[in-house]
Amino acid sequence: MPIYAYRCESCGHAMDVLRKVSDPALTTCPACGAGTLRKQVTAAGFVYAGKLDVLRNPADDHRLKVFDAKVRGRTDQFVFKFVKPAKR
Ligand SMILES: [Zn+2]
Repeated sequence: MPIYAYRCESCGHAMDVLRKVSDPALTTCPACGAGTLRKQVTAAGFVYAGKLDVLRNPADDHRLKVFDAKVRGRTDQFVFKFVKPAKR
């Protein structure tokens, strides 16, 4: 059975739940009782952990096309960071 990560949009309560694939998704938060529990998006065990600006180019103000000579090869870039949670 796969483990699903859930997080409540109301109170932020997070939990991992062992569920059958055929089980319906949970919606009620066990911490606050609100129906705002949401399944978290995961990719091969990796969890989105935020955006980094290390490759940003402040000179790129997004008004020029990426092929414009002025910004070619130096366009603004973003790094999306994913982490693999430690096994429990
Ligand atoms: Zn909650």
